[in-house]
Amino acid sequence: MSDCLFCAIASGDIPAAVVHRDERAVAFRDIDPKAPVHVLVIPVEHHANAADLAAADPALAGHLLAVAGAVAAAEGVSESGYRMVSNTGPQAGQSVPHVHVHVLGGRDLSWPPG
Ligand code: 5GP
Ligand code: ZN
Repeated sequence: MSDCLFCAIASGDIPAAVVHRDERAVAFRDIDPKAPVHVLVIPVEHHANAADLAAADPALAGHLLAVAGAVAAAEGVSESGYRMVSNTGPQAGQSVPHVHVHVLGGRDLSWPPG
């Protein structure tokens, strides 16, 4: 999708600190981290949000969660714990309309999030 920031990161047109890349998904460090570990996992293909992705391609939605888990393991937070978050829409604070799973860890994470 033209004019989509995360499509541009997925294609490599905009640089990012990539920690995982495969044919279907890319994981990269959030530019404004909210925790010591803060990685975003996105599909290469453009989908607006997690529900749209799951409806269009359930296997790809599952792959994103598997990549998020692998990232958490690689970042060393599998045992201490981590959070996966996918914001949808304005009241949830979704600022980039290309589905992304936040992987947050490395500190105590309050619940509910502010
Ligand atoms: P949202 O607010 O949509 O749930 O999450 C979007 C996230 O993307 C935010 O945490 C924000 O810091 C991150 N972000 C926005 N622009 C960039 C960018 O150009 N590069 C990277 N690596 N992260 C970005
Ligand atoms: Zn996109």
